[in-house]
Amino acid sequence: MSAERQRRHLVVRGVVQGVGFRPFVYTTAAELSLSGSVANDSSGVIIDIEGTPADLDEFIRRLRDRPPPLAVIESIDRITVAVRGGTGFHIVDTTRADGGRTLASPDVAICADCAAELADPTDRRHRHPFINCTNCGPRFTIITDLPYDRSRTSMADFPMCSHCTAEYTDPTNRRFHAQPIACPDCGPRLTYTAVPLSAATTDDRSRLSRSGRSEPETAGATHSNDGVQPTSDGPNPSLPAAHRAPSPTSDAAAALTAARELLREGGILAVKGIGGYHLACDATNEDAVATLRSRKRRGDKPFAVMVADLATARAIAEVDDIAAALLSGPQRPIVLLARKAPISYAATSHATLGSRTHALASPVGRGIVGLGDLLEGDRADSSPSAAREGHGQYARGTATPTGAEAPGRPESRGLDRGAIALAPSVAPRNPDLGVLLAYTPLHLLLFGLPGDPPGPQVLVMTSGNLGGEPICYDDEDAGTRLAGLADGWLSHDRRILTPCDDSVLRVVDGIELPLRRSRGYAPLPLTLPVPVPPTLAVGADLKNTCAVGDGRYAWLSQHIGDMDDLATLRAFGFAAEHLAELTGVAPTQLVVDAHPGYRSTAWARTHAEGRLVRTVQHHHAHIAAVMGEHGLGAAETVAGIAFDGTGFGPDGAIWGGEVLAAGYKGYRRLAHLRYVPLAGGDTSVHRPYRMALAHLRSADLPWSDTIASVAACPADERAVLTHQFDTGLGCTPTSSMGRLFDAVASLAGVRHTVDYEAQAAIELEAIARGVDPGAGTYRFALDHTADPAVIDPAPVVAAVVRDAGHGVPAAVIAARFHHAVARLVLDLARDFAPPPTTVALSGGVFQNALLLSAARTLLRDNGFPIITHRRLPPNDGGLAFGQLLAGAG
Ligand SMILES: [Zn+2]
Ligand SMILES: [Zn+2]
Repeated sequence: MSAERQRRHLVVRGVVQGVGFRPFVYTTAAELSLSGSVANDSSGVIIDIEGTPADLDEFIRRLRDRPPPLAVIESIDRITVAVRGGTGFHIVDTTRADGGRTLASPDVAICADCAAELADPTDRRHRHPFINCTNCGPRFTIITDLPYDRSRTSMADFPMCSHCTAEYTDPTNRRFHAQPIACPDCGPRLTYTAVPLSAATTDDRSRLSRSGRSEPETAGATHSNDGVQPTSDGPNPSLPAAHRAPSPTSDAAAALTAARELLREGGILAVKGIGGYHLACDATNEDAVATLRSRKRRGDKPFAVMVADLATARAIAEVDDIAAALLSGPQRPIVLLARKAPISYAATSHATLGSRTHALASPVGRGIVGLGDLLEGDRADSSPSAAREGHGQYARGTATPTGAEAPGRPESRGLDRGAIALAPSVAPRNPDLGVLLAYTPLHLLLFGLPGDPPGPQVLVMTSGNLGGEPICYDDEDAGTRLAGLADGWLSHDRRILTPCDDSVLRVVDGIELPLRRSRGYAPLPLTLPVPVPPTLAVGADLKNTCAVGDGRYAWLSQHIGDMDDLATLRAFGFAAEHLAELTGVAPTQLVVDAHPGYRSTAWARTHAEGRLVRTVQHHHAHIAAVMGEHGLGAAETVAGIAFDGTGFGPDGAIWGGEVLAAGYKGYRRLAHLRYVPLAGGDTSVHRPYRMALAHLRSADLPWSDTIASVAACPADERAVLTHQFDTGLGCTPTSSMGRLFDAVASLAGVRHTVDYEAQAAIELEAIARGVDPGAGTYRFALDHTADPAVIDPAPVVAAVVRDAGHGVPAAVIAARFHHAVARLVLDLARDFAPPPTTVALSGGVFQNALLLSAARTLLRDNGFPIITHRRLPPNDGGLAFGQLLAGAG
């Protein structure tokens, strides 16, 4: 027998640290009676393994085919070495070798095993808000450096007790080398603090007094399990129990009870999560949600909601199998889902929202109220049956059931699951709902375990920040910036080292479409089809992410945000630096967008320190991103259709309706949407009626008062616009498809002013969904005599005006317009993508599920090879990846 033995030296690369890989190797070796050792180093996991050739083959097969759920195996290198004998198998301590690289794991939602322990009264971690194991818990947000060891995380602040040490060092335990291991004896401490009302904004005191809360007595009450004394003078029998001073036995449970009670009463709670603070309130309480909206200065932008389990998600939204898998996967993103019940647009009170733009918005109401009937019809087809495409390295993640149906969740509570009515202010005039499942033990406890006085069933869960600013994650910073936003704080003393917002995605034709790639995904690497030198790409100024690349790997940062203030710029610098540290990439060059006014570009030039700064045109980067995502090679070219809001063109115009013949190395502009004047830049972005007037003029159509957009534009503003269009003063030509959506939304009477990016397009999509466009069709004109060719929207604009004038419902106009844009994509492919050219779709406009689905179907039915995004956002959140490929290759 021993004569047959062999010894092999294996190097396993990929996401193999902090994911339970070494215990898995240990138990697999033990099952097969193999001897040897396993160790982490900075290049991955090193395995020395000895046994019969058959057993060794089986060992490698299991490594490759059945790794731990969170592991991503990139490669297994093997060489045969001299047999050494021996019987035992050992786990060797971590070493750090040069020349290699290991990959940090993203944060992982609580797993089913830990959720079960959390709810088990006999378990020593029963109700422990920081329960985790090798398969779950925080990673990216608590790591300072690699290799991933407790000493390099913020858990270093909490020395392990003897119980935890025993589990941590036992290779057969599921907490073996789980770096954030903790228990009630040695883990972080939960704290609840009520905010004195005088410190909060005062415009909503009446709401709180209506809800029965008396002000002075609650001030400063603190519940904590580490003995913090309350500042109030002791129990007041007139107050609910949770708001009295803590009893000597007060602990995490008391803090949670108080937090749940605040939420039940309609208060706003700041909750310290995995990647930062959230602001939470009862999503069924209109007063609470409207207050949060006004305190956050949120405008109309929808809030996401959190629920404890899939059953509750199904009570508020349409959840098919694919959505269920995404909602309950270890990444736990926010998933945009069709609402269960059609919303009553009429119920949305503009007055409640207090938006600065609503004075101009009255025609919007006329356009939308009454479409509820039309929307009802579309609920049935929200579960397209198209086969799901491959998901590469992420497939395992989304398919893994973890604590989705959280054990211990009181499904038997007896409430009618079909009857949860959300407050209108959660997502005004939006038929979709951003839903996510509880992803930390603290969230599950916030909803309540069996026997707890329950909290709300559905919570608004929004990033803890003021509109536009980065998420708060540092306690001191949160204390300052969130003061006045929250009525109570549920916090703890584990430091968050890296902020990370929730990820957002939607499902289109059964395929996931990321809208924001952040928590749960960052910093998972993406492979590059062509090698790049060590490079930092800084992205764009909206929905910013940055990326580093080296060789065949790229790492995209978490979502950083809109670079319109200093705090975001600082957050950007920190993220770029941290990403470089974590990946070991020392960039020798930087890649920036061509826009001369971008803060990201300015940041790169300031921080270049003599390194080369390369510039990539915005839409070239978009097309390179989708090419790279699909692994296209260095020699390949595509017909890239980039439909976007804004991007700087080398001719000084604002591009955004582009057809490019593109490879990584360069592009040629084949066609673009005909230029119209963008008067006053951002002003016209915020007021779609101005874009409508620009398109009317460009189409030689009179500004008749019977047109909704013209009526929406004040007369003096019309006069100024006329002058601007006549003289070109303050006007930039734009070919933006995003702005054409704005114009059509206004011409159809759907929306004349916007409160957040793409609001008009989102509402146009919303009302068009499921609506039969009928016999009427719109058609773009294509002028091939010009080079680049010109796509003329004038016939479409004229048809929209004609339909609107004839009383055709806005929803039908919206449906006809979507169909026309999809048809345009097909026409462009026919003109510019001779077989076998691949058609690549990218840019923010392709977040539109209706358009993406229709365009993809038309292209496929007509035999065009097509690539679209499924791992990266089509918006600027995916731009840095494309910059790496287009700028660094
Ligand atoms: Zn776990
Ligand atoms: Zn412990």
